[in-house]
Amino acid sequence: MYAHPGVTTDPARPVPATMKAWVLGDPDELTLVEKETPVPRRGEVLVRVDAIAICATDLDVISHGPPAMIQGGAPFNKNFTPGHEYMGTVAALGPGVDEFAIGQRVTVEIHAGCGQCKRCRMGMYTSCLNYGMNWGEHDKGHRANGFTTNGGFAEYAVNNINTLIRIDDAMSDAEATLVVTAGTSMYGLTELGGLVAGESVVVTGPGPIGLLGAAVAKALGASPVILTGTRDNRLEIGLALGADHVVNVRREDPVEAVRRLTNGRGADYVVECSGAPGAIDQAGRMLNRGGKLCLAAFPHEPDQVDVGHLVRNNIYVYGIRGEGKSATHRAYAFMAQKRFDATRIHTHSFTLDELPIALRYARERIEDAIKVVVRMPRRLAEIGAETA
Ligand SMILES: [Zn+2]
Ligand SMILES: [Zn+2]
Repeated sequence: MYAHPGVTTDPARPVPATMKAWVLGDPDELTLVEKETPVPRRGEVLVRVDAIAICATDLDVISHGPPAMIQGGAPFNKNFTPGHEYMGTVAALGPGVDEFAIGQRVTVEIHAGCGQCKRCRMGMYTSCLNYGMNWGEHDKGHRANGFTTNGGFAEYAVNNINTLIRIDDAMSDAEATLVVTAGTSMYGLTELGGLVAGESVVVTGPGPIGLLGAAVAKALGASPVILTGTRDNRLEIGLALGADHVVNVRREDPVEAVRRLTNGRGADYVVECSGAPGAIDQAGRMLNRGGKLCLAAFPHEPDQVDVGHLVRNNIYVYGIRGEGKSATHRAYAFMAQKRFDATRIHTHSFTLDELPIALRYARERIEDAIKVVVRMPRRLAEIGAETA
């Protein structure tokens, strides 16, 4: 029986007292357990997870730890549930919540931030100065689900209301899991200045953020949008999503190709999504003078960059983390208006019980997996309640 003081539930949509959840033990060791269903506090709701996409950052967290931080340290053996790109249905309301109603479909942003530090007040809640400060004496109320608080490889998760976006019934569960990915791409373009209509934008690396980055740049009116990568089938998806030109870097020097496609001038903006060695230096040489470079990938090793070239040419460099400044809402608006079809990057689906297989597909890119989505089988009692 799920009953907690101040928490509103709906008897027609019962919430179980315990739920299935994957927890992280040692690195790469995930176990499916029965865990207590979490309880929303002030300004929070309980979300029944309906679908969750796997992200490359989940693979990093599960194998290495960072950028996850639980109780001030590595996320291992702390009963922590990873997973952050999910969507679902509002299942219970924390005290005082009237912004959402039980039964509404929602998708999520990852970072709630503490809401009170300088960066949060600027809308930069993904760079909250109290990152991970949500435990013991350090309880600043920060949440980054799947990184500093429990995430969505589970039947239920708690979300701050500021991290929820109501979604239209016309949008499928799988598509809704991709809103936060498009939101990350949108945040990169937001930080570059946002007004990219008529400006040339290069996106390097056709992973999920790069492919949706090309889509968002096109939806914002950028022209031309150039996508570079090594796999023709992914570059073709980029063309379908809105890239004007694609460059296979195995066949053509990407810096020369960008110059050719921008009348010899170089691009106004580059969004680096590959994380490949040397990619940042190459991106700097794709830009024209005064151009702007956004770094949206996490390279695993330190990288060599000709800084002098950046300085002599007044090139601006921005690092982005996640999906700040409500970018996810703008990305959702484009998707709801069908400005691009994000489902083109959704390649595989599994169920919650099959999470280890799903992670292997994502990690090893089996059958050229791009976005792998995990769906939740509903409990029989709930299906009965929903059809009643
Ligand atoms: Zn992610
Ligand atoms: Zn903060």
